[in-house]
Amino acid sequence: MRTRITGGRVFDPANGIADEVRDILIEGGRIIADAPRAAGEEVVDASGAIVLAGGIDLHSHIAGGKVNLGRLLMNEDRTLYPEPLGDFCGCGGGRAAPTTHATGCRYSQMGYTAVFEPAVVGANARHAHLEMADIPNIDTGGFLVLGNDDFLLRLIAQGEGQQAVNDYVAWMLKATQCCAIKIVNPGGINAFKFNGRALDLDETGPFYGLTPRRILNTLQRAVTELGVPHPIHLHGCNLGVPGNVKTTLATIGATEGFPLHLTHIQFHSYGTEGDRHFSSGSAEIAEAVNANPHISVDVGQIMFGQTVTASADLMSQYRNHGIADPKKWIGMDIEMDAACGVVPFNYRDTSFVNALQWAIGLELFLLIEDPWRVYLTTDHPNGGPFTSYPHLIRLLMDKPFRDDHLSRIHKAARAHTRLAEISREYTLDEIAVVTRAAPARTLGLKDRGHLGPGARADVVLYVEQPDREAMFAAPRLVLKDGQVVVRNGEIVALTQGRTYALHPPSDPLMDKRLERWFDEAVGLKAKHYQIADGEIRGGEGPELVELNP
Ligand SMILES: [Zn+2]
Repeated sequence: MRTRITGGRVFDPANGIADEVRDILIEGGRIIADAPRAAGEEVVDASGAIVLAGGIDLHSHIAGGKVNLGRLLMNEDRTLYPEPLGDFCGCGGGRAAPTTHATGCRYSQMGYTAVFEPAVVGANARHAHLEMADIPNIDTGGFLVLGNDDFLLRLIAQGEGQQAVNDYVAWMLKATQCCAIKIVNPGGINAFKFNGRALDLDETGPFYGLTPRRILNTLQRAVTELGVPHPIHLHGCNLGVPGNVKTTLATIGATEGFPLHLTHIQFHSYGTEGDRHFSSGSAEIAEAVNANPHISVDVGQIMFGQTVTASADLMSQYRNHGIADPKKWIGMDIEMDAACGVVPFNYRDTSFVNALQWAIGLELFLLIEDPWRVYLTTDHPNGGPFTSYPHLIRLLMDKPFRDDHLSRIHKAARAHTRLAEISREYTLDEIAVVTRAAPARTLGLKDRGHLGPGARADVVLYVEQPDREAMFAAPRLVLKDGQVVVRNGEIVALTQGRTYALHPPSDPLMDKRLERWFDEAVGLKAKHYQIADGEIRGGEGPELVELNP
């Protein structure tokens, strides 16, 4: 069965197509090369619509231990926002801490078809995969958190060499069925367990005597040498600390030529100027990103309203727990691999700090010139729920709308931001880059994020309207692998997505060594810790991402 989407305005930046009326032909769940009309084709009239590839969110906390703790802690989220999802799918289920089912439905309703969980802790990986398998209509993948795990820190501290680190990283990626490596506060979470309360890039950790810089560089080299497509996905030191712009600039300068992805950079772009000792560092950060083509970022935009933050960075969550709103929080260790902190936040436009955080995020989006190196995120749910993306897209595309919001935030924050001077408005083509083409490219997903022959038939039709928020909130049609799953913003079908993983080879000697380590130091045997292919997606197994040669 062949489907022809005809008459729509196609934006496909990965293939150099911007606003061309052309047909998209689908067969067997994939896009095929255009061909003359044939009898028996199903024809979808896309006139008046914009045609894009399915949206890809490369940083959204949708599954795993701390996400589930967030759901438990913020049970009221599902009472406050029951929002039934239409007749077909009455799951309701929250915004900041939605159920797995609601997560898939709400993403799908906005035209997203793939979402990546950026903080899988090894000991929780099986749980994360079970939850991801339960999220309908989107493909998923996990980024494995390393950089505070005792085995790695020992390898580095004992000077065992890069090859041993590479073998360990490869073993862990395969064992946990993840597709990239994330570092959260390198060495800092480990330092917290020895009563450290801060650890800057070149400070030495209390137990292993390692600096965050050394841990970062070692893992950057490992992923490069193993051929992992996505560079190290770094949540840097000093998250949320006024003055951390210095640390972030130093980190950009510390990459030794390796590519690096800096995540939720908004939380790492703070100065100490002004009488409140909190200011925007976005101009300096944007300048550094513009000047360093091997750096990419996602923003982690703050959106006003209630949310719950969930992070492996217990050091920073411990710092924040005093401002929890409502007043409750969770901080815990997870098998010594990492940790986790869950703290509810209510971002207010009447708060100087929150209002300036909002402006800093938008400044970063607008001052970083190359859309291929900045990805649209709120670090869901940390900066705000992903359901606010259509509103965020309008803030980026519509200067008068942005100015109107700017005029309503805390007065002193307004005086501290350059936002009013920035006239840039994102184009539809740039939105297609930051929400589709660029995340696919950095993750090494060759058959996603574009509409060329061979791509997965994840296709979205949005009806062109001046109100970009309304436009991106309710697509006319969403196809997942060629099947219609959303019509006029309503779920009409539920499908099972796939999970991306990477299996780089490692030396079998590492198996033996980790068997001994797990017996000695971990609550599970190595063979039980490793997730078999048949455990992924109800037995379907993972979709393997190709390694770089
Ligand atoms: Zn995050």
